[in-house]
Amino acid sequence: MLKVVIIRCQQTEDICPGTTDFRFAKEGKGAFEETGPVEVVGFVSCGGCPGKRAVMRAQSMVERGVEAIVFASCIKKGNPIGMPCPHYLQIREAIGKKVGKNIKIIEWTH
Ligand code: SF4
Repeated sequence: MLKVVIIRCQQTEDICPGTTDFRFAKEGKGAFEETGPVEVVGFVSCGGCPGKRAVMRAQSMVERGVEAIVFASCIKKGNPIGMPCPHYLQIREAIGKKVGKNIKIIEWTH
C-alpha cells in the first residue's frame, strides 16, 4: 500500500478536520482511484501563507518513508470555502524540486 503524506491548508484547519481526506484515502476514492487505498502516515499543514514550510515538511516526510505527497483539496480546489491557495503552483513546484521525480505528487483528494 502506497505511503502518503497529506498536506493541507493551514487557513482551513479551524473548520475542517480532514475527515473526507482520510475516508477517501482508506477507501481508494477520488484522487486515490488511481492508486487504490493508501496509508496516510502524515497529515500536516502548509505552515501558513505563503506555504514555504510545506517544502521542508514534505522533505521530512520523504525521509520518513512516504512515497507520495498529496495536496488536500482545500489547497488546489479551495474546498470547502471555494478559495484555492494563491500560492499553490509555487508550492507544488518547490516541493517537486525538493523531493525529486521518484516521489509521486497527487494534487487533490476529493
Ligand atoms: S499558503 Fe495556501 S495552503 Fe497555505 S495557508 Fe496560505 S492559502 Fe492556505
